[in-house]
Amino acid sequence: DPACAEPLAVLGRDVTVPLVTGGEVSYAALDYAASAPALQRVWDDVAAYAPYYGSVHRGAGYLSQLSTDLFEQSRVTVAEFLDCRPTDQVVFTRSTTDSLNLLAAVLPADCQVFVFETEHHASLLPWVDAQVTYLNAPRTPAEAVATLERALADRDPYGPALVCVTGASNVTGELWPVKELAAAAHAHGARIVLDAAQLAPHHPVSVQELDVDWVAFSGHKLYAPFGSGVLAGRADWLQQAQPYLAGGGASRKVARREDGGVDVEWHTTAARHEAGSPNVIGVYSIASACKALTEAGFENLVARERHLIAKVRKGLAEVPAVRILSLFGDDAPRVGVISFVVDGWNSSHFAAALSAEYGIGVRDGLFCAHPLVRTLLGSEPQAQGECGAPEAAPGERSLNAIRVSFGAGTPDEHVERFVRAVK
Ligand code: PMP
Repeated sequence: DPACAEPLAVLGRDVTVPLVTGGEVSYAALDYAASAPALQRVWDDVAAYAPYYGSVHRGAGYLSQLSTDLFEQSRVTVAEFLDCRPTDQVVFTRSTTDSLNLLAAVLPADCQVFVFETEHHASLLPWVDAQVTYLNAPRTPAEAVATLERALADRDPYGPALVCVTGASNVTGELWPVKELAAAAHAHGARIVLDAAQLAPHHPVSVQELDVDWVAFSGHKLYAPFGSGVLAGRADWLQQAQPYLAGGGASRKVARREDGGVDVEWHTTAARHEAGSPNVIGVYSIASACKALTEAGFENLVARERHLIAKVRKGLAEVPAVRILSLFGDDAPRVGVISFVVDGWNSSHFAAALSAEYGIGVRDGLFCAHPLVRTLLGSEPQAQGECGAPEAAPGERSLNAIRVSFGAGTPDEHVERFVRAVK
């Protein structure tokens, strides 16, 4: 299949790392779900722009104006990438975590929130101070929809409500039935935000086609490594709330009052929630990545990733001690994120051996999704650090898992080496 032939060029392809057994080997970055390597194209775009960057929305100089134009053009590029509605706002944030915390901060009074316990902590936790209902892990996509419908049917139908759901799990890689969940939410007068941190790098995301109200994602998982993220969607809740951060850039007019206080008129555009000097390079790199992925063609990226997923799953299936973690079963559509445990192995030691003996970088732990990993492992993880995991005693069942993840820049050799190493 010619579509499967070539990975996209990413940084780090020439990096070599030492092995405990002696010598060096090229580094196999198989932890895309944590942070993906930057696309070479993004790096080149940023390098070309870097000499020209200046303050945005603040300067009269030529470079400030150029930067302001590029910054605002980046919003348009992201809106196109997400196929937003014309009235949607694109707010630049630091990350998915930041985006979802921003949305939590603008919830209308008395908003009820519905979240599956299977979510990443970034989408599980921002609502802990709201009226939140945590829904049990479903074992099929249809059960997810039925569970949400039941929960929404019981709610106060007149108050505002929000559903938060991931598009692709950062643990199992499985795709969630976002369109069906959005339809269920809307049928019950609720809104829905899509955590696309793991979906957007692997799949086209259309706000209009999925009919979601907001989407959040992070640049560093989308091959743009500069500390920026996106919250895009409906303007009304964003416009009605107090700014997420108070400060310059968010305010249109500030004046002293006669009583000595200060009156503030806040912007009603995305700038309302972007106080302070923005991450110009980060935003520019997200826009560059959006363009590069669109030009590469998601049909090609998806085809190539399917080919890699099949290689890894086939290889792991040949090792009887390996158990792949899955909620929805073998046939569920998924992205290139696969978690597993190996009988008789402590997952942390296994991951350390992959690194030290084979130059392969994976992740072990609970993946900031403790309730989900607990369900999948059938054990009670005792967290050691927010996303870490405890050691299993020798011979005990593993209390954490190993995650291998890959994407547009992954050559076949990396996944082949991984399968060889596991075997
Ligand atoms: N949601 C999901 C599904 C994720 O995988 C992650 C990152 N692991 C996040 C949210 C949080 O992303 P960030 O750390 O960039 O805020």
